[in-house]
Amino acid sequence: MNLKKMHDIWISDLTHTEQGIVSRTFPLGASCVFSYAKKELGSEFNFRLFKFPSKLNEALSKKIPSMLCFSNYKWNFELSYKFALEAKKRDPDLITVWGGPNFPVEINEKVEFLQKWPAIDFVIELEGELGFVDLVKKLSENNFQASKLKKNENKIINTCYLNEDHLISGKIERIKDVNVIPSPYLSGAMDEFFDQPLIPLFETTRGCPFACAFCADGQASKNKIHRYDPERTKEELNYIAKKVKNMSELMNADLNFGMYKQDVVTANFIREIQDKFNYPKTVIVATGKNMPQRIIDVASIIKGWQLGASIQSTDADVLKASNRQNITSSAYKKLIDFGNNSNATKTYTDLMVALPGDTKEKHFSSLKWSIENNVRSIRMHQSIMLIGTDMASKVTREKYGLITKFRTVPGAVGNYEIFGKKHPIAEIEEIIVGSNTLKQKDYIDCRIMDLFIQTFYNNYLFEEVFALLKSINVSTFDCIVYMKNHPELYSDTVKEIIKDFVSGTIDDLYESLEEAQKSVLTPEIMIKYIEGKLGYNELLENTVRLFNKFEDSRDLMFKSVKGTLKEKSLLTEKVEKYLVELERFVTLRKNEPLVDIGSIKSSTFNYDFEAIRENDYLINPNSMPLLETPSKFDFYHDKEQQKYISNQVKMYSAQAEGMGRLLFQSDSRLLFRSFSKSG
Ligand code: SF4
Repeated sequence: MNLKKMHDIWISDLTHTEQGIVSRTFPLGASCVFSYAKKELGSEFNFRLFKFPSKLNEALSKKIPSMLCFSNYKWNFELSYKFALEAKKRDPDLITVWGGPNFPVEINEKVEFLQKWPAIDFVIELEGELGFVDLVKKLSENNFQASKLKKNENKIINTCYLNEDHLISGKIERIKDVNVIPSPYLSGAMDEFFDQPLIPLFETTRGCPFACAFCADGQASKNKIHRYDPERTKEELNYIAKKVKNMSELMNADLNFGMYKQDVVTANFIREIQDKFNYPKTVIVATGKNMPQRIIDVASIIKGWQLGASIQSTDADVLKASNRQNITSSAYKKLIDFGNNSNATKTYTDLMVALPGDTKEKHFSSLKWSIENNVRSIRMHQSIMLIGTDMASKVTREKYGLITKFRTVPGAVGNYEIFGKKHPIAEIEEIIVGSNTLKQKDYIDCRIMDLFIQTFYNNYLFEEVFALLKSINVSTFDCIVYMKNHPELYSDTVKEIIKDFVSGTIDDLYESLEEAQKSVLTPEIMIKYIEGKLGYNELLENTVRLFNKFEDSRDLMFKSVKGTLKEKSLLTEKVEKYLVELERFVTLRKNEPLVDIGSIKSSTFNYDFEAIRENDYLINPNSMPLLETPSKFDFYHDKEQQKYISNQVKMYSAQAEGMGRLLFQSDSRLLFRSFSKSG
């Protein structure tokens, strides 16, 4: 009889949930480690996979496993650590393991990290699979006594740990053939997550050939690309499409999709499931940084790909300081032109503010460049100091005089039950708010401009208005700058929103990690975070407020258009007349688009808006004839839109900052009412 103990090994990719789900995808990374470990060692151990803290707590209340393992990201580190700490109090022999990018690269910083967080036994760097299996084998050889293994100073692949204060690091190795990892979808390991409001996430490659200073994937060790067998990807996609419920989105974790010839094959697989299952409606993936023609080929196959590129800044010095290699301007323009005329839901770019060397003029010029090249959605981000990146190093901080503050990761604060007791937990991140080239006042100006672009320009909210400006050769960017420079046009509600936005941008921040933790975790402050009064993503949150106060925003938009045109002596009688009708038209299509989605609204217009739509709203009212007899138009959501909205609302209402993310991520053209002439 074999009396050998079957050890329980639990792997968690936790997400905060108290303010809604923060990490909204299937746990791909953790499930790959789980699947590979199960394949290599499954007969000897009981493996389990977790995503939600409540499930982990429930399981822990019944038994404590031999190993508790966690993915390590800035949005879940503290949550995982609290679980480890509490579980270790009950069983000091429990072995804890972390794996993920939230770990320093410098040796002395690794030592400091492990000393600061003593409940961490082992950290696996880079890919988790090889290191994890090697670690379990070595622990097995040491009777599952971490102290014995540490004392022996056994070297473990990709893994480091402290013996006393001495850092032991194993050799760094990457899996050369990623196909040795069994598919977590096809093995059924992901099945339970299809019942949750989570986006299926898959990967066809690992690695990134670029080396951006602000990104943990920019490390040289992650430079080589490893690819999965296309047949496996095809099977995974079909499996996902058959299993999804109330879901319109699919996310690909590749870091440069569309850049490689095999991506054309993947694109065809995606299109096949789209044609067969009418899923996914939206495909989310990071676009490659070169090979624009191939990206165009890939994009012409997939429906609903948000096509674009992250350029972060258009300024050569800012890019150099971040070691960032962008797609060329001409190639990017070609890509965007194609995207705007294709199946892509919306073209996008990502821009960061306050990167080393950034200035107000440089940030404005990046925004202007994006708008003038017709990027339909500009995603503007603060610069976050990620552990293990070059930007977070002492040298870069000093060279560019980076001024940083600390805040909670939006949505990642809550009280979580562990062993029958509630624990306040908050994730903290460090952001750049200024530098030796960016004064605080300029930083605030950049952020207000970001808010206006996010609200008024992105997501097609006023696309008809900007098309009009374009038709009479007026810059959209200039109109938004006019809006920013004329606060006398703001209603009291808009003034209040901007005041709160500035306060969220600059005041609700802390000087240090310790100060942030100390303050946030007090019960009276904690409640403010949970109720959403503090710690939200101020850009998303205030965009939603402006979006919901549609009439205030619309008035500001139209007043700014008139002001801009007046300044340029272009506000003719005919333009004014068109603006009056356009304002009513935009209101019928876009005011409260998620409310009453089965209803029909009607109104009569003197302009033929069907013909104007045919022309992408690019009309010059000075030469546009009025209808001989006014026509009645109906405004409604068609069946496809109703289904899309219902799926999006279901999924995003379960997520942190749901409405903001819904607006940010959705295909807005499916949200806004369709219309047709009815009389
Ligand atoms: S290209 Fe993207 S994934 Fe690669 S290093 Fe730069 S930011 Fe990171």
